[in-house]
Amino acid sequence: MFVGRDADGSWTEKDRILAVALTRYEESLCSCGYPRHICQDPDNDGYFEVEPVVCYAQAAIDEHTSGTDYKPEPGERLGAIYARETLGHVDAGLNGPVVAPGDDASDVLDVSA
Ligand SMILES: [Zn+2]
Repeated sequence: MFVGRDADGSWTEKDRILAVALTRYEESLCSCGYPRHICQDPDNDGYFEVEPVVCYAQAAIDEHTSGTDYKPEPGERLGAIYARETLGHVDAGLNGPVVAPGDDASDVLDVSA
């Protein structure tokens, strides 16, 4: 999110340039996450290896929905809540975590709760 710094709260020229740069970067990515000029280059055929990665937030969602009695409400989307007690309670929602596991969260979280 870009926040304008002009007096009226509008985007600055720097904000607009950064927004365009981010859009172009995101458009350059393949669905696999690599830039298309890398993963779709025939010269790179055979140079990618697969390594399993476990997302424990997705694992929790998968476990929740794998039960035979699970029936989603119309329009329901599930978000994982990061609830490790040492970092307090962080609502990761559907847009990603506010604080990633392992980050020092003491300055953004109320850990006394
Ligand atoms: Zn790709």
